[in-house]
Amino acid sequence: MNAPNKSGWKPVMEVAEDGMHNGPSTTTGNRALMLEEPLLFEIGHAEVTGVDLPEADPDAKTRLGGFERSEPIGLVGLTEPETVRHYTRLSRQNYGIDLGFFPLGSCTMKHNPRLNEKVARLPGFADIHPLAPQSTVQGALQVIHELGEWLCKLTGMPGVAMSPKAGAHGELCGILAIRAAHEARGDAREVVLVPESAHGTNPATAAFAGYRVEDIPATAEGRVDLAKIKERLGKGGEGGSDVAAVMITNPNTCGLFEKDFREIADAVHAAGGYVYCDGANFNAIVGRVRPGDLGVDAMHINLHKTFSTPHGGGGPGSGPVVFSEALAPYAPLPFVKKDGENYYLVEEENREERGPSFGRMTAFHGQMGMFTRALTYMLSHGADGLKQVAEDAVLNANYILRSMEDILHAPFAGSGPCMHEALFGDRDFGGDLSTLDLAKGLIDEGFHPMTVYFPLVVHGAMLVEPTETESKANIDQFIAALRSLVERAKAGDETLKHAPYYAPRRRLDETAAARKPKLAWSEDEA
Ligand SMILES: *Cc1c(COP(=O)(O)O)cnc(C)c1O
Repeated sequence: MNAPNKSGWKPVMEVAEDGMHNGPSTTTGNRALMLEEPLLFEIGHAEVTGVDLPEADPDAKTRLGGFERSEPIGLVGLTEPETVRHYTRLSRQNYGIDLGFFPLGSCTMKHNPRLNEKVARLPGFADIHPLAPQSTVQGALQVIHELGEWLCKLTGMPGVAMSPKAGAHGELCGILAIRAAHEARGDAREVVLVPESAHGTNPATAAFAGYRVEDIPATAEGRVDLAKIKERLGKGGEGGSDVAAVMITNPNTCGLFEKDFREIADAVHAAGGYVYCDGANFNAIVGRVRPGDLGVDAMHINLHKTFSTPHGGGGPGSGPVVFSEALAPYAPLPFVKKDGENYYLVEEENREERGPSFGRMTAFHGQMGMFTRALTYMLSHGADGLKQVAEDAVLNANYILRSMEDILHAPFAGSGPCMHEALFGDRDFGGDLSTLDLAKGLIDEGFHPMTVYFPLVVHGAMLVEPTETESKANIDQFIAALRSLVERAKAGDETLKHAPYYAPRRRLDETAAARKPKLAWSEDEA
């Protein structure tokens, strides 16, 4: 980190260890208009303040009831412009969907239409309080209710829980409903089957809910092994099957549609179990397939993937769960009901209407900002538009798959078209180059890397998801960059080992950062 006030102009070319030169060094450490940003603690001082306040009268009576500060808290004082610039500069070093292509497989980082933002910011949605009297927030309750109805319609499922706040949170909600349903009939099953092609959150969810997780291998073509599931379901012992549920990601993390889903669901139901579908990738099939028709009992939908708003740094998540007839009564509280023209929330106190609900997932009603964005996305696309969302997402992914498969190992390219994401591996790279080097090279080319080393079933996996919102021109540019990097990797171009060259930070010691994180600034190390 270059401290701001240490001057020392060095009129020499900076040559990095790898022999590449980085141009002449600058006094400030800044490069062109990319400013090197120190920590707040390096810019400001605890002794100064950004605002002038009159000295407090030492004899004045305080109203703090003994909670006055007794010693300085060590926060630095900065002026407003210094503060604004600090955060603006940091934000310029951040890559986001509004800056460029974000091909993270499994994350569905699609463009977030400005219309969504406009609607989400309407004061009637943005400025309300979760404890406001229900008669004053009828419009917000209507949005939750209407969005829920759309989700039921799109999935062909009769029940929905709107409160879970992420995909993984939705999984937990679904599994807790499954547990409640088994318990209600006095059936203490202990096992949840999770195929290898499932998302990593699935086994974590099942284990968190207290189940024993058993793996089901994938077939050579990257799908769930139907025969293995049937075999395992039959091994119940005397009391019948011990399998409470299977959790299947569909489309799966190899980017493939699980063709045997209906048959798997029938087998699970025949053995008295429930079918959980990880529907985070619903964007690949929305408007084309209704999971209810496939025998799903519970499925979460990542509003923040299928219906816009990239998650992570891009915004909050929301993972509503749709339920089959069998599981709907166990859905969590609260839920919105309509009585004539009135909307109301069913909570714990409402003994009659709450039924055998397993309890609640969150303090309040869910992620209002996401509800408004998702409903806006749905209504602005309409039924035909949503169908096209899925078709374009799949078309774009197949375009990438077929544009790369001649030079990059594509293990399941022979299994037919992919769905919304294309999966590659790092076979045939020269030297000791790997997926990581290629991903770092993409940064120099101005692209956020794809998802790497996931799913685990492929060596050096690279999972690329373009989404439906990228133009062909953007995708072509990405393909050109990726092809050039693959050629370099196959030729064993060792300079890739040190990429990125042009990022504000080069290769970080990610292991040390994870194992020995420095979470507090200390003056000694400055
Ligand atoms: C993103 C994703 C999840 C987890 O969703 P979060 O909102 O990040 O918790 C689960 N399963 C699949 C298949 C996903 O793509």
